[in-house]
Amino acid sequence: MIRFDGVMKRFGQNVVLDELNFAVEPGEFVTLIGPSGSGKTTILRLLMTLEQVSGGRIHVGGDCLSHMRRGERWVPADDKYQRQIRKRIGMVFQQFNLFPNMKVLQNLTEAPIRALGLSRAEAEERARDLLELVGLSDKIDAHPSQLSGGQQQRVAIARALAMRPDVLLLDEVTSALDPELVAGVLALLKDIAKTTDITFLCVTHEMGFARDVSDRVMMFDHGHVLEDAPPDKLFSEPDHERTRTFLQAVL
Ligand code: ADP
Repeated sequence: MIRFDGVMKRFGQNVVLDELNFAVEPGEFVTLIGPSGSGKTTILRLLMTLEQVSGGRIHVGGDCLSHMRRGERWVPADDKYQRQIRKRIGMVFQQFNLFPNMKVLQNLTEAPIRALGLSRAEAEERARDLLELVGLSDKIDAHPSQLSGGQQQRVAIARALAMRPDVLLLDEVTSALDPELVAGVLALLKDIAKTTDITFLCVTHEMGFARDVSDRVMMFDHGHVLEDAPPDKLFSEPDHERTRTFLQAVL
């Protein structure tokens, strides 16, 4: 579902990802861990096409995201091409990023109407089902500012699901929440991961959650995959000293 082939990403002289190779199978839940600055968020931003590769290729669902064919040649993909592929990818951000001037219902219907061409009635039906799933049916007419952080994040999750994505990217989704709201959001995500065939790529500092839901955990260091293993192996008996010291610092 996701494949990075020799991906390079530079910001000026700073090489952030260096010949990065990895793949995520359909339906897998893969968590990226590692020290701050190791390139985890850059990977998510490349998939959202908020950044472009400096070299190598990214594939999503069998199609190239980073490059497109022009006649016989492959050239860097343009925005119109990338928008088509990006429709398959949803993202939930640390800061929720809801549309503040729209009610909850409209937050959920806007993109499906505009980007998928759903009718308003279809989009609203989908939105109501999703609000029920995330336990916020009674907030359908609220504005984001009237909701708690946990409720806003549930709306953001529902908004991402409204696009029926194949891939869901989670970027530190509980970091901005009050501690007592974290568990509810994580339980919701676990439930979605277990009951759908969505492929997840998750950046988190919640090691208990990572261990609980991940099929695989990838430990990053300086833009490389240092270790890639099932969570029980990576958390209990990591191969690398660097992984061990990182885990000791965060657990
Ligand atoms: P992580 O998510 O693992 O903390 P990031 O992917 O955010 O790491 O950052 C990796 C490196 O890339 C850092 O050194 C960071 O300073 C750099 N970086 C990220 N985005 C930019 C940008 N837009 N411009 C310049 N440098 C950036």
